[in-house]
Amino acid sequence: MVFGFLALEYDCAMTTNAHPHDDHDHSACVADALARAEASCGERGARLTPLRRRVLEGLADSHVPLGAYDLVERLGASGEKPPPMSVYRALDFLVSEGLAHRIESRNAYIACGRDHGTDDVIVFLICEACGLTSEVASHAIGRDLAWATRAAGFTPRTPVIEIAGTCARCRAAAEAAPAIEGAGSPR
Ligand SMILES: [Zn+2]
Ligand SMILES: [Zn+2]
Ligand SMILES: [Zn+2]
Repeated sequence: MVFGFLALEYDCAMTTNAHPHDDHDHSACVADALARAEASCGERGARLTPLRRRVLEGLADSHVPLGAYDLVERLGASGEKPPPMSVYRALDFLVSEGLAHRIESRNAYIACGRDHGTDDVIVFLICEACGLTSEVASHAIGRDLAWATRAAGFTPRTPVIEIAGTCARCRAAAEAAPAIEGAGSPR
């Protein structure tokens, strides 16, 4: 019961567009993520089970971070609805394999969109307007942070930085908005 309530509440809060700016061939993003996962699991001897694959596919199908219950609903819409616990376990696997990241500030997950070195700091750029989340990796910040944390005798768990702000397209849209009325349509 509690779960049902939470899921409902979550759905209402997060009825976000998975592709807020539909500006690229998104099927390529999904194909890339799956291909990278297969290659990486093959190399590392990890098993990309059908559910793990489905969960990754679900994540890669969105450029907005998805909560576990959001994923359960999405997967349920396109096939058999997986139990939430299995989805959590699959997410844990994907995160530990570096195929997905947990966005702490959103309590949500996103497919890893790039290759980054283990020493790099991952910087997530999270748009507060549309939810679009992209990642950039910085070796320089990683090096500085490693130095600073070592100096403090501290061992960081996962060097991740989450930055909230406005994505380039939302900014462009906001800048263009006041001009639209006057600029109007071609004659
Ligand atoms: Zn895409
Ligand atoms: Zn990544
Ligand atoms: Zn945005």
